[in-house]
Amino acid sequence: MNNDTIAGIATALSESGIGIIRVSGDDAIKIVNSIFVNKKGEHTLASFSSHTIHYGFIVFDGQEIDEVMVSVMKAPNSFTKEDVVEINCHGGVFVCKSVLEAVLSSGARLCEPGEFTKRAFLNGRIDLSKAEAVMDVISSSNNSSLNNSLKHLNGNLYKKIKDLRDRLIYEIAFIESALDDPEHISLEGYPQELLEKCIEMKEETDRLKESFKTGKILKDGIDTVILGKPNVGKSSLLNMLSGEDRAIVTDIAGTTRDTIEERVILGDVVLNLTDTAGIRESEDLVENIGVNKAKDCAKKAELVLLIIDSTTEITDEDKEIIELVKDKKLIVLINKIDMPGIIRSEDVEKYLSGDYDIVEISAKEGTGIRELSQKIYNRFLSGSFKSDEEIVITNLRQAEELKTASDSLNNVTNSINMDLPEDFYSIDLMNAYAALGRIIGEDVDDDLVNEIFSKFCMGK
Ligand code: GDP
Repeated sequence: MNNDTIAGIATALSESGIGIIRVSGDDAIKIVNSIFVNKKGEHTLASFSSHTIHYGFIVFDGQEIDEVMVSVMKAPNSFTKEDVVEINCHGGVFVCKSVLEAVLSSGARLCEPGEFTKRAFLNGRIDLSKAEAVMDVISSSNNSSLNNSLKHLNGNLYKKIKDLRDRLIYEIAFIESALDDPEHISLEGYPQELLEKCIEMKEETDRLKESFKTGKILKDGIDTVILGKPNVGKSSLLNMLSGEDRAIVTDIAGTTRDTIEERVILGDVVLNLTDTAGIRESEDLVENIGVNKAKDCAKKAELVLLIIDSTTEITDEDKEIIELVKDKKLIVLINKIDMPGIIRSEDVEKYLSGDYDIVEISAKEGTGIRELSQKIYNRFLSGSFKSDEEIVITNLRQAEELKTASDSLNNVTNSINMDLPEDFYSIDLMNAYAALGRIIGEDVDDDLVNEIFSKFCMGK
């Protein structure tokens, strides 16, 4: 294990109240001690007890850089299990960089992205599923996603995986012992017993694997497209939801020429919204490109928000678009209800059957947006959290390892059904055990570890 001392700015590089420079490694205390002085100008950091915080100044090359608070966390009781010093300085970009420079010039190395968390993992403080949860906690944008990441951080996924692995290793050990010592340990009736256990473990593994569908929605959001003929209020809705004037709102039909994309947090769901050029047949080449793109987006979208203008009759254009999206997950928005309208939900129902929702809204005034958010939540997420204990995985790597484990368990049941010899079972049980192990970071190779942590932000 390489214990050289690393340093990085742990807070965002922008003007803020405070900035934190984090230092970790064998020489963390020595290095910061050389540039930190108390009010009397003394270098006293080395004498501080663990988990204490101290007032003083960073002085480098005879020059005072900032007035700071420095905290000391001694190994092994720190995030990385190494000596960690955190320098709380003023939150300016220049001042943070200057303090970091002083630390680096005094003997630390600039950290790589995620290197602090990587050390926490390599030093055995957290398993890989918790390390990945750290990143998810940081990138969480709503309550559901944060709660889920925190559950992983608390070790829920780790416990579940460990439980499955304990059960697998018990069976592997039993088969090995029986094969080694057939006189004393009988395998009579065992295959049937194992078959039942494997079916059960496969079900549990599959349930976890399937939770990735929800997890992906929680983490990455729902790919959503806003459709409707020109002037129904698509850009207005996008602007209302994103709180920014991203799309140009005008009275002239067909002004939104291309697609505009925006990540919008709506209550407990994240929408990756695409506003499209008004779908309609057009002679205009530029607009046609937009229209084709809109049709494309509709095909790929997980959710379609179809806007109908409540102040005008339903036209053939509306009906054509309805035709285009009727098989998608669909929410019809009857817009402009702040005005005296002629179209209501019942009028749209005549043209649509099947499973869709209708919400009456005013993109201008924000009416109905809460109901829209609730409808989306109900469609995509409710039911996914049957209980607080429900584990939802949010990571493709974990989903793939669960699939490997599930396939291996399936192979065991096939081998049993085909009356193959017991050592066949062991190989596949072992494969399942290894795949589950990789989720929590057992026997993962260095390249994978480096790849996972390289996606982290600097200073984490
Ligand atoms: P798009 O072509 O579908 O993107 O439609 P726009 O968002 O550009 O809106 C077309 C016109 O309808 C603009 O004048 C908007 O101000 C108006 N509009 C959009 N939504 C509403 C609404 O909820 N109420 C009212 N009264 N006007 C709206």
